[in-house]
Amino acid sequence: MKNNSLTYDVLVIGAGPAGSTAARFAAQKGVKVLLLERREIVGLPVRCAEYVPLPIHRYVDLKASGILVQPVRSMQTYIEGESVTEMTAPGVMIHRDRLDQKLADLAVEAGVEIKTGVQAWGITGGRVTARGKYRPVTIYSRIIIGADGPSSQVGRWMGNRPGNNLIAAQIRVPLNRPLDHTRVYFRPYLFGGYGWLFPKGETANLGVGIDPSLKERLPEVLNRFKEERVAEGLIENEILSRGGGLVPVGGLTRVREKNMILAGDAAGTCHPITGAGVGNALVSGEMAGQAAAEAVRRGNFQPLEEYEDDLISYLGGRLSHAVQKRKSMIANWSNRDFLENIHHHWIAFKEYYRDET
Ligand SMILES: Cc1cc2nc3c(=O)[nH]c(=O)nc-3n(C[C@H](O)[C@H](O)[C@H](O)COP(=O)(O)OP(=O)(O)OC[C@H]3O[C@@H](n4cnc5c(N)ncnc54)[C@H](O)[C@@H]3O)c2cc1C
Repeated sequence: MKNNSLTYDVLVIGAGPAGSTAARFAAQKGVKVLLLERREIVGLPVRCAEYVPLPIHRYVDLKASGILVQPVRSMQTYIEGESVTEMTAPGVMIHRDRLDQKLADLAVEAGVEIKTGVQAWGITGGRVTARGKYRPVTIYSRIIIGADGPSSQVGRWMGNRPGNNLIAAQIRVPLNRPLDHTRVYFRPYLFGGYGWLFPKGETANLGVGIDPSLKERLPEVLNRFKEERVAEGLIENEILSRGGGLVPVGGLTRVREKNMILAGDAAGTCHPITGAGVGNALVSGEMAGQAAAEAVRRGNFQPLEEYEDDLISYLGGRLSHAVQKRKSMIANWSNRDFLENIHHHWIAFKEYYRDET
């Protein structure tokens, strides 16, 4: 069968928060944008604990689009052997699938063409091949934005090595009483990461993210963490749904090569200690979309270089501090006093904000 051949100004690969936002901001500047998504339905299955900080309102009206589930006012940290520490952390619990779908709708309203169920597969002579439910297509685009998540294909095309990811598993469980805060648990058996219980109305997202060296033990670790919360009387011993995924914790990757740039998890914008990535995916998506449109307008790649510089100035310092903290936390997981180790490396404690010596 003969290939279809398509031409665009900007090709965005991946319709998560970063990709849909990049596509929308590029299209708003009047360029011709194609957004490719390998999933059949944008946003599903959900791979997220669904807590986001408040500034997300800048990108989407959470109430009007039925994305909002409940407000959250604080985060409680539980470390084995210590009483709870509470930190003000205003944010919201959301339906993440609805957020992703709304962001994709906003992109389409801005003039973006979207193809779902289509995976970007390879690149030859600057042309991207994509396969899916339709016959294979070859796409020529002046600029390519890789917003294709933690195992970014576009990143590999640019020559980036696979990033450093935590592995995460999550279940949705019935909550015994409503909560107005998120809970984060540190336990020695949750090596290199933590467990979470995030309230979602009458249910909660309960999960663990741990070092990939423990991959084989992930189901057992999740089960142990769940059993402890059942024993505390917080949740029912019932599983309503399951999910999981990779959380990039290596910090910013190289984000530009010739006519290609990366945004969101593909660029390593997820926070290496907390694992929060939606906010930075949106911001980097906006920056990438604007840079791509400007590069098309000017007819050169200078705006892509500026994107790289701007992303590093905006996020580089915070993310590299978190990467250093992560390395030190892992190195001291077993040989430093557990409480002291977490105090030095978790955002709820003042020691986190000091540099490691
Ligand atoms: C279990 C878990 C819990 C989390 N909880 C939170 C949380 O509570 N709060 C928070 O802020 N962050 C959380 N995160 C992180 C957050 O989900 C990510 O940082 C965020 O999704 C990044 O958005 P993105 O658009 O960069 O990437 P993604 O959301 O991963 O989107 C990438 C998209 O690209 C598509 N794609 C990939 N390859 C291709 C291809 N070759 N062709 C076409 N399409 C492709 C994928 O299908 C996907 O839709 C969590 C992550 C995990 C795994």
